Amino acid sequence: MGDSAIEVLVVEDNPTDARLLEVMLTRLTAQGFRWRRVDRLSDALTLLSQRHYDVVLLDLALPDSYGLDTIRRVRSTAADVPIVVLTGLDDESTGLASLREGAQDYLLKDELRPNLLSRALRYAIERQQILDDLCQTSEALQRQESFLRAIVDANPNFIFVKDEHGRFVLVNEAIATFYNTTPASMLGKTEADINPNFKQAEQFQREEQTILETLQEKYIAQEPRRSSNGEVRWFQTIKKPLLLPNSSERHLLGVVTDITERQRAESLLWQQAEREQLLSQVTHQIRRSLDLGQILQTTVQTVRQVLGVDRTAIYRYVELEADGVGPKTAAQLIHSTQDCAPRQPHLRARRTQPSPMTELLAIDPNEGDDTAVWNAAFKKSACFDRLLHLEPQEVWGIDDLTVDAYFDESDRQAALQLGVLALLSTPILHGEAIPKTPLSMDASLAGVMVDRRPGEHHQWGFLVISQHDRPHQWQPWEREFLQQLSGQLAIAIQQAELYRRLEMANRKLERLATLDGLTGISNRRSFDEALAREWQRATRQQSSLAILVGDIDSFKTYNDRYGHLAGDDCLRQVARAIAQTAKRSSDLAFRYGGEEFAVILPETHLDGAMIVASSILESIRELQIPHAYSPVSPIVTISLGAASIIPRANTDPSSLVAAADLALFEAKTRGRNRACSATGTTFA
Ligand code: GH3
Ligand code: MG
Ligand code: MG
Repeated sequence: MGDSAIEVLVVEDNPTDARLLEVMLTRLTAQGFRWRRVDRLSDALTLLSQRHYDVVLLDLALPDSYGLDTIRRVRSTAADVPIVVLTGLDDESTGLASLREGAQDYLLKDELRPNLLSRALRYAIERQQILDDLCQTSEALQRQESFLRAIVDANPNFIFVKDEHGRFVLVNEAIATFYNTTPASMLGKTEADINPNFKQAEQFQREEQTILETLQEKYIAQEPRRSSNGEVRWFQTIKKPLLLPNSSERHLLGVVTDITERQRAESLLWQQAEREQLLSQVTHQIRRSLDLGQILQTTVQTVRQVLGVDRTAIYRYVELEADGVGPKTAAQLIHSTQDCAPRQPHLRARRTQPSPMTELLAIDPNEGDDTAVWNAAFKKSACFDRLLHLEPQEVWGIDDLTVDAYFDESDRQAALQLGVLALLSTPILHGEAIPKTPLSMDASLAGVMVDRRPGEHHQWGFLVISQHDRPHQWQPWEREFLQQLSGQLAIAIQQAELYRRLEMANRKLERLATLDGLTGISNRRSFDEALAREWQRATRQQSSLAILVGDIDSFKTYNDRYGHLAGDDCLRQVARAIAQTAKRSSDLAFRYGGEEFAVILPETHLDGAMIVASSILESIRELQIPHAYSPVSPIVTISLGAASIIPRANTDPSSLVAAADLALFEAKTRGRNRACSATGTTFA
């Protein structure tokens, strides 16, 4: 208000009262009051709607309005202008009623004095001001509260405040929804009131009491709560004491987070990690070996262990060599004894296809099971028939054979007789990673390689696991595990097969490397190896070891006369004759070099060696190969040198070879076509 004037609108029609008021107000001019008087309410309302007055001094008995209605009409035109009502002495009740209608004060006309009037007007203005402020504050508070309320309600966590007796004084929508009620109806109630089945109510109460006494907050990492529909969910809770300013009351604030989904996701992740680890363990196990039998046995054992099933088995489609053309998958071969009549309409398409032949390669059965009997019965069952027709990548299973609709009654009974209640199976594919035979490789090696187009897969076999004493609902992870495992198994099988073929090829190559290309008998390299071997054995056994070295007589002239090709042919005939003669162990005849040959004769003394030598001489003569330019004979002849020894330890065979060479030299110098021994014996 300050120094500015206080504008007063006087509404009074009684001339006496009006005069009195005017006199008083005029006296109050010095105190800053300015006034204007009207007789009728309508005039007052017009003025109020046109300009601002600080206060209205209002008589309730006017020509155009009477009683409390007068106040209402003023307020409806100028709600914020304070009203001071004038009443007669006999009507104080009207004055009080006026206050209830929103007037700020009332004055009894008979008691009117200037000071009283001045104070009443000023107080009325002041009170109106305070009221306005209050009104604004409370509106702001209300806005603030609904704002906070919205935030609290929008929060998916449970938020609540309880008093010292555990009664809710604030709850949000989330917790009310969990208990299938409304926030309002939870207020004033305890947990036990809301959820009578809540077993931990008492424990909660004690815990919360402790928090309020010690003023220490509590964090509960996980606890179960049962919702109104009976579902148990898991929660994480923070409870802390709440002290309000200027209040000795203690409250408890709780924020509860539903962690059920998070826990579920975490445990799924954990399980997933565990299974991946399992798979990598199994994979590691089976990849450690290149031996197929061992790989398969390890697989069936570990799978049975990991999945906790009663039986694991691996079957392979039988591959047959078809007239040396190459392996042919048995999938194309008719299982002739199999009854191919369809038993179920949906099987008809499959049954018209011939069933491939299979063999059981690995099995990890229950202890005491007769595998052979079981296998024979299983192979005859409709279950097995279905396994023969697995699609690539398919994982096929039955959870409970007693109720499964896949088979007809007799098939089911037959399967149940096997003791199988649940089974799961997946094919093992065989991918193409085996290279085709390189062109440079010897044609005789090609037989061990499979000619298959790159990227082509065929079914190698299948893996089947079964549960016998109880049904089992196969979980997605078990199906996935089986499928991934079969992929790993396929790789291991392929590696083993590759390794096996490589080994075969290597053995063949090795054999080739020891043979002489021209004559087909063992070569010089294998002579050295065989001699070293026999030398060691003879040393160990202290037995006599003999050798013969032979050299075709005048072979140079043979070549000159008949040509090199004829020479080669002659060498082949001589080699065969020597090998056949030394037939006690034909492996031990060698082409030593050019037209020279050697024979190793284990456990043979010198005289025995000379007997073999004379047989060789004889058999070569019997070949009757013409040799017109030979100075020795008209047919091809040979000279031989023989030597024998019982080797001492730490000696090598070179002395024996040298002795035989010397004997051969002697045979040559004595006229050829004969055998000489290192001691001087001669056979012609
Ligand atoms: P000697 O009676 O003293 O043994 O007389 P030789 O002519 O047999 O002896 P020499 O060592 O002078 O000649 C060996 C001949 O053998 C020379 C060589 O051309 C021939 N020869 C060596 N290897 C082969 C071969 O693989 N094929 C053919 N056709 N001849 C060969
Ligand atoms: Mg020679
Ligand atoms: Mg010669």
